[in-house]
Amino acid sequence: MEEYNTIIIGSGIAGMSAGIYLKRAGINILIIENNMPGGELNKANTIENYPGYESINGTDLAMNIYNQLNSYNPDYLFEDITNVDLDNNIITTTSKKLKYKNLIIATGRRSKTLGLENEDKLIGHGISFCASCDGALYKDKTVTVVGGANTAVSDALYLSKICKKVYIIYRKDNLRSEEILKERLAQTTNVEILYNREITEYIEENNKIKAIKLNNNQEIETDCLFLAIGYIPNSELFNVEKINGYIKVDNNYKTNKKNVYACGDVIKKDLYQLVTSASEGAIAANNIIENQAKGD
Ligand SMILES: Cc1cc2nc3c(=O)[nH]c(=O)nc-3n(C[C@H](O)[C@H](O)[C@H](O)COP(=O)(O)OP(=O)(O)OC[C@H]3O[C@@H](n4cnc5c(N)ncnc54)[C@H](O)[C@@H]3O)c2cc1C
Repeated sequence: MEEYNTIIIGSGIAGMSAGIYLKRAGINILIIENNMPGGELNKANTIENYPGYESINGTDLAMNIYNQLNSYNPDYLFEDITNVDLDNNIITTTSKKLKYKNLIIATGRRSKTLGLENEDKLIGHGISFCASCDGALYKDKTVTVVGGANTAVSDALYLSKICKKVYIIYRKDNLRSEEILKERLAQTTNVEILYNREITEYIEENNKIKAIKLNNNQEIETDCLFLAIGYIPNSELFNVEKINGYIKVDNNYKTNKKNVYACGDVIKKDLYQLVTSASEGAIAANNIIENQAKGD
């Protein structure tokens, strides 16, 4: 069985930040990722609040961090995890059993769905979670964003520059996004906000979204629906203490299990952002480095 001082699960900004600190301290690490380095960053169109960059595309920032981490030659494994045994410090993936001394959980969170009929089969066929990935496919078309917080409003702003018409469907009567985003939205001419509305049905044609039905029975023709209605933490694999699925940590980002840390968007916290996720990864790593120095 391969053994590592620290295994990091998840290669978003939190996991990669932890990796940079650990490798610079000469600690033997493995990063396990079951998708693409950068995580949710790859879905962000433009980042304007990460220090050091006035404005940067999410994928570019993800690649910058990935390249920085790779300059220290960490071990990477791109595979699914099938079991996590926190009592015996063993991770099983589709091809390996791996032993660790320390574990950092940095698996982030995923987008919520509406749970309506036929939703699963329409994902990728007119239902998307990523405006920056899929928006260009709907140039000069009509699209709909569902939600009213920062992601929804940012998505609508991005899509307003590409699409002919953008609807925002929001179940409350006032957007929850930052003021600056609301101000930008007010300056657009092709975004229409429908407040106090919920989608009750997807109407499809040839296995693709054609329209949506709302709770007032109104039907809106739309070529794509972008869901931006919240998140579910990717914490199911881990038998640690949680609050509403988010992992509970202390000030050092330790969970209730010995030598098991968690950081980034998978933990319970107040601010789910890049700058917090990066710093949490660094603090978790620093704890491991300090314990290693003490011989713990
Ligand atoms: C559209 C959008 C725009 C945003 N804009 C901004 C912004 O402007 N400014 C800002 O500060 N923040 C923004 N955010 C939030 C920011 O992207 C997140 O806070 C941040 O990326 C969280 O980083 P993370 O490393 O905790 O998680 P993630 O980025 O989610 O990374 C987690 C990683 O773990 C992997 N993973 C999950 N489960 C497993 C598993 N079982 N095995 C192996 N790997 C696994 C995932 O594939 C992923 O790569 C935005 C988010 C979105 C979606």
